[in-house]
Amino acid sequence: MKNSEKKMDEIISFAKEKGFVFPSSEIYGGLAGAYDYGPLGVELLKNIKDFWWRENIYKKNNYYGLDSAIFKDPRVWEASGHTAGFSDPMAECKDCNARIRVDKELEKIGVRADEKMSEEEINKLFSENKDKIKCAKCGSSNFSEAKAFNLLVKSNLGDFTSKNSEPVYLPGEACQGIYLNFKNVVDSMHPKIPFGVGQIGKAFRNEISPRNFLFRTREFEQADTQFFVKPEENKEAYERIKKERWQWYLNLGISEENLKWSQHDNLVFYAKDAWDIEYNFPSYGFDEVEGIHDRSDYDLTVHQKASGTDLHFNDNGEKFIPWVLETSMGLGRVFLAVLSEAFDLEKLEDGSERRILRFKKELAPVKIAILPLMKKDGLAEGAMEIFDMLAGDYNVIYSDAASVGKRYRKQDEIGTPYCVTYDYDSKEDQTVTVRERDSMEQERVKISDLKEYFRKKFN
Ligand code: ATP
Repeated sequence: MKNSEKKMDEIISFAKEKGFVFPSSEIYGGLAGAYDYGPLGVELLKNIKDFWWRENIYKKNNYYGLDSAIFKDPRVWEASGHTAGFSDPMAECKDCNARIRVDKELEKIGVRADEKMSEEEINKLFSENKDKIKCAKCGSSNFSEAKAFNLLVKSNLGDFTSKNSEPVYLPGEACQGIYLNFKNVVDSMHPKIPFGVGQIGKAFRNEISPRNFLFRTREFEQADTQFFVKPEENKEAYERIKKERWQWYLNLGISEENLKWSQHDNLVFYAKDAWDIEYNFPSYGFDEVEGIHDRSDYDLTVHQKASGTDLHFNDNGEKFIPWVLETSMGLGRVFLAVLSEAFDLEKLEDGSERRILRFKKELAPVKIAILPLMKKDGLAEGAMEIFDMLAGDYNVIYSDAASVGKRYRKQDEIGTPYCVTYDYDSKEDQTVTVRERDSMEQERVKISDLKEYFRKKFN
């Protein structure tokens, strides 16, 4: 099934029905812009993170991992420019007070705009096109002027007794933790330049209108790498990183027809180049999943100035502030891309329909389902022994409810690559049936060979 034939509403309700994603605080009516990952979702998310970590940290000899604290000195966000400039253009509907994000509304009607434009630029486009934009809540076009709305989320941690004390913000982007630890990584790991630091961390943004399920939330995770290079030795590395990141999505099981590059027209003043990788989401269309940015020496320079700590790199006596090439991927958006890509309805020869998640084996939340043909006659016990044998190596489940045919379908629906059925013959000849998800082919395998069989299948 092509993505153009898939419907996001169906994927969203399917994700909830099967335990992938739940609205946050649902029993209280749900909190906008926040989602919880359920029992299967947490596995898929973890598998995507592991896949990212393996390719971006383990497989490279000059990349290091990091996990920095959420709470940071408030001066970090001042130095980085977030307290002053991390904003989106917002307008209010004068009839019902609903808020809209003006650049995104302009984009929807085909006007090129983005959040980095000045208030004046965006308001010019807004006033020229106001009557074409309708409030999603009441349908009116009676909007206020666009104003910059800061996205940083404040916490109440900190000292508020002194008048000038800044609140401690939650991170607006995960990467700042990497800049703050640049010196620590250099002093402890003694890397040669160029080198990279990667981190998977939470980010929080007071999004004006959280929307499109996991696509625009107020709390999300980013998987970031920051690659430190010699000044002006950025171009070649940037091209290499772009190629690697594109390939990563293909390796993840995303088809190339659903991926697209998009270059930023409006660069922030310090950036030298910026490209996004976009995914073709069902119903929503192409939109950003990852940004790849050439950030020059901006970040380390501003933190050196604000903190008073020397952040030069000493390369055999040659001292300089490294340039930074960033990759920043939103995990929620990639999760949604993987789920959308895998979602399929297959017409079978007998005319019936099979709902299936065609995950790459590595990403599947459950790897193997163990199914006794019947619960009675010692078959359940035999199947449980196989469960115990494999459970330490894979996420395995045992299921004995309903007919085997129905249980196969249930496993197809959640993308389980293999089902193992223990039947009456198994008791006699110590073999089981292994059924593969996509081909539905079955083969008999000796129980004593199962560990080795799956080791090969999952390698
Ligand atoms: P957008 O233009 O969609 O608001 P952005 O350009 O501000 O995104 P970046 O600051 O470059 O995004 O963040 C890097 C990545 O973090 C994005 O590519 C995206 O995958 C993810 N991300 C950013 N904002 C959100 C959000 N509100 N919800 C979920 N993921 C997000």
